[in-house]
Amino acid sequence: MRSVEEHQRVVAELITAPPGIRAGLADAQGLALADDVTAPLSLPVFDNSAMDGYAVRAEDIASAAPEHPVKLPVAEDIPAGRTDTLTLAPGTAHRIMTGAPVPQGATAVVPVENTDAGTETVAIYAAVREGRHIRRAGEDVTAGTTVLRAGQVVTPAAMGLAAALGLPELPVIPRQRVLVISTGSELVSPGTPLRPGQIYESNAVMLAAALRDAGAAVVATPTAGDDVAQFVAVLDRYAAAADLIITSGGVSAGAYEVVKDAFGRAGDQGVQFVKVAMQPGMPQGIGRVAGTPIVTLPGNPVSALVSFEVFIRPALRRAMGLPEPERPRRSAVLTETLTSPSGKRQFRRGVLDTTAGTVTGYGPPGSHHLRWLASANCLLDIPEEVTEIPAGSQVEVWDLSAP
Ligand code: AMP
Ligand code: MG
Repeated sequence: MRSVEEHQRVVAELITAPPGIRAGLADAQGLALADDVTAPLSLPVFDNSAMDGYAVRAEDIASAAPEHPVKLPVAEDIPAGRTDTLTLAPGTAHRIMTGAPVPQGATAVVPVENTDAGTETVAIYAAVREGRHIRRAGEDVTAGTTVLRAGQVVTPAAMGLAAALGLPELPVIPRQRVLVISTGSELVSPGTPLRPGQIYESNAVMLAAALRDAGAAVVATPTAGDDVAQFVAVLDRYAAAADLIITSGGVSAGAYEVVKDAFGRAGDQGVQFVKVAMQPGMPQGIGRVAGTPIVTLPGNPVSALVSFEVFIRPALRRAMGLPEPERPRRSAVLTETLTSPSGKRQFRRGVLDTTAGTVTGYGPPGSHHLRWLASANCLLDIPEEVTEIPAGSQVEVWDLSAP
């Protein structure tokens, strides 16, 4: 049997980073920058008013006070967006709005609150310092400087900065596009009445959500019955658009193991089926189909999602250059005694109480107990050789609640 670490390494080698691309801002959200970003222009782009008020020469109103206001004629009205170049004549004021270009010759802006808000002439009740309420060109960003670094994740603020700099695209490490194929003749889509022997398909929606959560994109989530021709037809239809294919089901030791059969029969040496010393999730497969990486997960829902957590999520995040590819590991005190099979690394569902520093195993270990996983917030990581952990022991957990 292969160790968890060994299979993690093989999966990580399979899922590799493609070269950087230029993506539109909305598409770049959440991705890592492939290159530094240099500002093509300065911000603010031009000297502009920080207040609604009046552009003046500070010396013209130096004597202004509430009891003896300075009155100036209002020569221009400058809303934001005015594009002609204006000059302020000495002894006059221009009414100006926040974000509007400050006219040449003006040295300060008087807030409207310190005036009578006049439109023909304005009475100004307070003096202002030179430079007051003017945002200077370049005081935020100087053209030519590096404003974002390679490796940084594109956040809403980074997108806003790029847009403010007039950049419609950013250089990013592309999102991995993943095809999720569920297999099983017993599976029907939620919404259809169940016939005897049928169950609702649940891995596709779950794995697709886990993929998006990991930062990847989902190409499609088709289901194939346990029929090689049908499975291959689904692969052929969608695989070209994918950087990675994930299947669930059809890889264990029984008959009608469609994923195993498909690659076996085609004589495809590209996919290798292995047993990994873990519970849940022992039967695993990995390789390439027509050049595209494929990871085949077992069908039991808990096995499928735990396998995703252990092998695929960290590899995908690493390939996308995203921070914290691994779930954060925490140490907590176990509240009850747990047993674990010898020779297998066990991932038990648990509830971690970070305030108390404790963890409680949650639900039975069986890989069909999806209900417990749905309300767990961590995985207890129990080493291969351990068969019993007494209550009160320190155990390592993977914190699923943190990104
Ligand atoms: P398999 O790995 O195909 O032998 O499936 C193992 C168990 O998981 C069986 O009980 C299947 O019915 C169940 N299973 C497989 N795929 C799915 C799926 N996509 N949704 C829900 N249950 C599944
Ligand atoms: Mg099956």
